[in-house]
Amino acid sequence: ATPTALMAGSGRGAQLGILIRGPQVLERTSRIDTVVLDKTGTITTGVMTLADVVAAPGESGDQVLRWAASVESMSEHPIARAIARAGTERLGRLADVVGFENVAGLGVRGTVDGVDVLAGRATWASERGLAAVPEVTRAIDEAEASGATAIVVGWDGAVRGALVVADEVKPSSAAAVADLRRLGLTPVLLTGDNEGAARAVADAVGIDRVIAGVLPQDKVDTVRTLQADGSRVAMIGDGVNDAAALAASDLGLAMGTGTDVAIEASDLTLMSGDLRAAGDAIRLARATLRTIR
Ligand code: ADP
Ligand code: MG
Repeated sequence: ATPTALMAGSGRGAQLGILIRGPQVLERTSRIDTVVLDKTGTITTGVMTLADVVAAPGESGDQVLRWAASVESMSEHPIARAIARAGTERLGRLADVVGFENVAGLGVRGTVDGVDVLAGRATWASERGLAAVPEVTRAIDEAEASGATAIVVGWDGAVRGALVVADEVKPSSAAAVADLRRLGLTPVLLTGDNEGAARAVADAVGIDRVIAGVLPQDKVDTVRTLQADGSRVAMIGDGVNDAAALAASDLGLAMGTGTDVAIEASDLTLMSGDLRAAGDAIRLARATLRTIR
């Protein structure tokens, strides 16, 4: 009867829009006690829009946007898409880029109109020899405190401006987190984004524990640390940068709206991209396992 019940469970999952990779997955699903959630694209829509253009004293906001948008047009990152789209809408055709480089979790750079332009995290810009500008740093701090994400843009040895982007919490995310809590699970928000943006989203959906500013390769270590502390960890994510953590967790759940890499690294796929399916999966697994015992 055991395999039959598991088969039935998988079938029921498919009806709920939950794709289950193999019958043994339900067993692991039923034993999870901690749920690590990625922010961008998992709790939020992942569709960012450009909210503000900041120019350093003596610089033009259009120039900052044009060059940053040109470099970002080479990247698929949600931040990059927002900037490239806004640049095209406001300024028309973007410039060609040579020598493009994408550093996961940090930003992008490339040569535009003969100038080496960088767009990304402020700490990375500084490491790459771009001097910070107090006015821009202050604008970034304000944007991040209000829950947005700001990236710096720089060339020729100095920061020349910043771009502020933001996306929205999905309408069902708060209910989904509340459901996970009702099931006795501890939610944890894990993101590469800044602390301010992470806190704003966590507060909006009811998550207490926030781990922010984590590089893609360090997301795995976060999962392993939780496991070493005795937690049975489910990870929910959508991005290329979540794949390793999805594979390392006791149970990986991918958003069906996410990247193929995340889906391939996962045990379960929530087809609709509605986070509430995570609670459904846990409930289904527990019910299925009760039937067997
Ligand atoms: P998340 O965990 O929220 O999906 P990422 O790890 O992809 O975030 O990115 C973390 C941070 O790295 C971003 O908040 C941004 O500061 C920077 N970053 C990543 N990709 C880019 C990009 N294409 N352009 C500018 N900044 C980027
Ligand atoms: Mg994401």
